[in-house]
Amino acid sequence: MRKSKRVQRPKGTNDLLIDEIKNWQYLEKIAQEVFKIYQFFEIRTPLFEHYEVFSRAVGDTSDIVSKEMYDFYDKGERHIALRPEGTAGVVRAFVENKLFGPEYGKPYKVYYLGPMFRYERPQAGRLRQFYQLGVEAFGSKNPATDVEIIAMLMQFFDRLELKKNRLVINSLGDKESREVYRKALIEFLELKMEQLSEDSKHRLYKNPLRVLDSKDERDKKVVADAPSILDYLNEESMQHFSKVKSMLGALEIPYEIDHRMVRGLDYYNHTIFEVMNDAILGVQTTIAAGGRYDGLVEYFGGPATPGFGFAIGVERLLMTLAAEGVELPSKSPIDVYVVSIGDVADEQSLKIVQDIRKAGFSTEQDFLGRKAKAQFKAADKLKAKLIMTVGESELLAKKIKIKVVQTQEETLISLERIRTDFATVYKELLNE
Ligand code: ATP
Ligand code: MG
Repeated sequence: MRKSKRVQRPKGTNDLLIDEIKNWQYLEKIAQEVFKIYQFFEIRTPLFEHYEVFSRAVGDTSDIVSKEMYDFYDKGERHIALRPEGTAGVVRAFVENKLFGPEYGKPYKVYYLGPMFRYERPQAGRLRQFYQLGVEAFGSKNPATDVEIIAMLMQFFDRLELKKNRLVINSLGDKESREVYRKALIEFLELKMEQLSEDSKHRLYKNPLRVLDSKDERDKKVVADAPSILDYLNEESMQHFSKVKSMLGALEIPYEIDHRMVRGLDYYNHTIFEVMNDAILGVQTTIAAGGRYDGLVEYFGGPATPGFGFAIGVERLLMTLAAEGVELPSKSPIDVYVVSIGDVADEQSLKIVQDIRKAGFSTEQDFLGRKAKAQFKAADKLKAKLIMTVGESELLAKKIKIKVVQTQEETLISLERIRTDFATVYKELLNE
């Protein structure tokens, strides 16, 4: 057989290897702990959905749907898309499973963690498969919900000891306010039509707010003087936003307001926010973003239900943690390494190892027939807390030598105790 050409992973994807995964698991553990304090529990929805789930919710004119979606027709001619974000699928599931019913708590609060797919130009912190850790809360239109969820996000970042964060907020108002603003914005942009990018010329009438979100330098120049949405909020929208601001103040959560921030998804209204971090030199990194999406549940055929959520970009968060020099807990040391000497010991030491493992202690031994010296080295590499030496003479005497690595103290312990009550032995030796 001819040697085949080496296949590489697709552009914009990552292999997460053991040393990195431990950081991911740590993040997930902290998220679980913090989110539980606020009573958010995990939901898992499919990685792919019907195309309409995203085209309707995120919006046909958004970059995400119009340029970045991985969509295809399956063997049954269904138009399918890999999810580019988490909210639309969760809302679809909320409606489909009738999670608004009387048997469920209100607000209904969930979190998710999983891969998202966007056909983007890969670069640092911008991938084609990336992970989002997000939350959604259904059923409360109270601005206190906006604030408590932002506070939860901040508590999560605090737990990770991430420091250089900036919370940026804005309001998109309700439908009525946005309609009025939309007209004003179109009037303003029409006058500068010639200076806009091709994309924005197209979007001008369909979805002028998208122009504010454009990353094209020409558009950025034009929108610098655009009217502010905050001047167009009606009474109710203004009230909602000022309550959010005052409650953030009451909780002593610092924030900035950016009236040009609109976010890349069409489903938002009222409060929207981003958390930026300045730790990575020269880049403004948005590590989390979210907001309110009253109306989206109705859009999917459910009863009128307000919603609020956010998503954290996990790769960006990990990059930022590294840039801030935050040390995540390193690989945990192994409890016991069993050094076996001579063939005779093989079967016996396997039995001992299994007894210790059944008692719940992480244990390794050598299966490669290495010399004792190499085995001690392996134990060292695994940062073993205890090293047990099992040889012919030990087995004959039914007493095994255990070394406490930290103190270098050696003790003879009866084989019987090791096999039947290792938990106590472990406790005695290590005072843990
Ligand atoms: P950007 O403006 O950077 O393209 P976005 O507005 O498209 O971000 P959202 O859809 O709000 O991003 O997603 C929330 C978070 O997910 C972002 O703040 C970011 O941390 C992360 N994220 C978005 N797209 C990517 C990607 N292609 N690769 C890695 N992380 C991403
Ligand atoms: Mg984007």
